[in-house]
Amino acid sequence: MKEKSETNLHIESTPSNFIRNIIEEDNRSGKWNGRVETRFPPEPNGYLHIGHAKSICLNFGIARDYGGVCHLRFDDTNPEKEAQEYVDSICDSVSWLGFDWGQHLYYSSDYFNQLYQFAEYLIDCGKAYVESLSADEIRELRGTLTHPGKNSPFRDRPIAESLDLFRRMKTGEFPDGQYVLRAKIDMASPNINMRDPVIYRIRHVHHQRTGNQWCIYPMYDYTHCISDALERITHSLCTLEFEDHRPLYDWVLDQLGDKVPCHPQQIEFARLNLTYTVMSKRKLIELVENKLVDGWDDPRLSTLAGVRRRGFTPRAIRLFAERIGISKADSWIDMGVLEDCLREDLNENAPRRIAVLKPVKLIIDNYPENLQEDCFAPNHPQKPEWGKRIIPFSKILYIERDDFMEVPTKGYFRLAPGVEVRLRYAFIVKCVQVDKNAQGDIEAIHCTYDPDTKSGTPGAESRKVKGNIHWLSVKYALAAEIRLYDRLFTDPYPDSGGKDYKTSLNSNSKQIIAAYVEPSLCEAKPEQSFQFERNGYFIADRMDMRSDKPVFNRAVTLRDSWGKLTDK
Ligand code: ATP
Ligand code: MG
Repeated sequence: MKEKSETNLHIESTPSNFIRNIIEEDNRSGKWNGRVETRFPPEPNGYLHIGHAKSICLNFGIARDYGGVCHLRFDDTNPEKEAQEYVDSICDSVSWLGFDWGQHLYYSSDYFNQLYQFAEYLIDCGKAYVESLSADEIRELRGTLTHPGKNSPFRDRPIAESLDLFRRMKTGEFPDGQYVLRAKIDMASPNINMRDPVIYRIRHVHHQRTGNQWCIYPMYDYTHCISDALERITHSLCTLEFEDHRPLYDWVLDQLGDKVPCHPQQIEFARLNLTYTVMSKRKLIELVENKLVDGWDDPRLSTLAGVRRRGFTPRAIRLFAERIGISKADSWIDMGVLEDCLREDLNENAPRRIAVLKPVKLIIDNYPENLQEDCFAPNHPQKPEWGKRIIPFSKILYIERDDFMEVPTKGYFRLAPGVEVRLRYAFIVKCVQVDKNAQGDIEAIHCTYDPDTKSGTPGAESRKVKGNIHWLSVKYALAAEIRLYDRLFTDPYPDSGGKDYKTSLNSNSKQIIAAYVEPSLCEAKPEQSFQFERNGYFIADRMDMRSDKPVFNRAVTLRDSWGKLTDK
């Protein structure tokens, strides 16, 4: 079954993929009695990024479409790196994307007791043992991809002794690293993950939820499958790098048998790789901590907090996740695909406004000094029901500096000496003169206007001119800060092939300009999106927008060209 996407964009309904096929087959065969439960399991050790959005949309989207539920579970087994700040930001990002976990908010740490009991059970069954070797010694015996490992001399430690040591590990008798608990599987397995993996380690550290209650913490592979099973997850979706861990996932649950409520199916899919970004949490943390960007929500970052601040909408990101689909093969997605999704959303849903980003004065010599008249601009060219707004016209205007060329190049149809253009929603004007300062820079452009050509009046449109440029009245324009962003990296694959991604940071990725916007924009609410005609899609900055000092970020240009003011 497929459900129509909740966006109001004219997009395909959620496309099928191999995971949906598995679920539909399970529903047909009755494997889970029609139950569909998924989970999104972030580790709270950083902010979420656009790659996580793929996983969120997949897991929550499947639950939505098959009448199931999706859990939000914090995989919090590494207390050194985890923090409440990250938990909060993750909850915030998932809700912002439009998904609701309802009652289903869980933490792996909720299961520490059960995980511990199961570990004792494994020891009891002869399926786990306490290891005395150091981490280095364990590594030495582990073997390689081409050579089998060797059994540890402690592998056949008596069960009672392992049990005793494990209990004493728990009570804090030993320092970090003195012992670990290992699953007893097969040191000759071709899969290194099955060579007696460590499942518990000693860490005398405070945990953000369990405090100092524990000084032993379970490892990811052991924790994840049991958490899934305890939550009665049906389909445990994860990225491809966990494919080699699936035998371990299954092994642990097979040992526990009916001690856990079910045995979920792990299914792997390809992670999202997006050009011109880095997505590893370690690198994102490095960028933030070394102040190479302005915090976790820097609009140039691929964090969800960052793309949100930049002006990406949840709808655009959900559309992106649907478009790129789900597959088993790793690939790269071009940043342009994400941007196109935003254009598609905002073209449909963002009201139009006018901003002059790089102003130069235009004086209409034959326009009366004190006259002002109303021009009417549609809020959306395809949606007359959105109405029109007034843009006051007067003698002295701002236009874009780039909309004038003293010596026009071939194919330039905007303003030039002796040339006529239409001022959008107003009159046809003709350039008659240019004022320059001592350095030869243009200070003002003089025009005459034709009063019979006002847009919207009978016959006004009969005279055609090639250029059509936007403008604002100097007297009514509102000063605004506008932030233009470019790619954070100059290299589409900043961290591939062992390169140091920091060497390809784009030093011109942020530009702050003093611009003018139309007066109504003082009422823009933080996070409201607009198309500034001919200049791109902008959002009122969620942190800094104020009615007396409007601040807008350019999310994306109108067409697929990057950031430069001249690109229109
Ligand atoms: P790290 O950057 O340290 O590798 P992580 O991305 O694995 O961290 P988790 O918190 O473990 O971070 O990720 C939560 C979930 O999001 C996991 O199920 C993971 O598979 C998925 N995920 C992470 N990155 C991507 C990505 N680029 N594309 C799709 N899913 C992803
Ligand atoms: Mg991970």
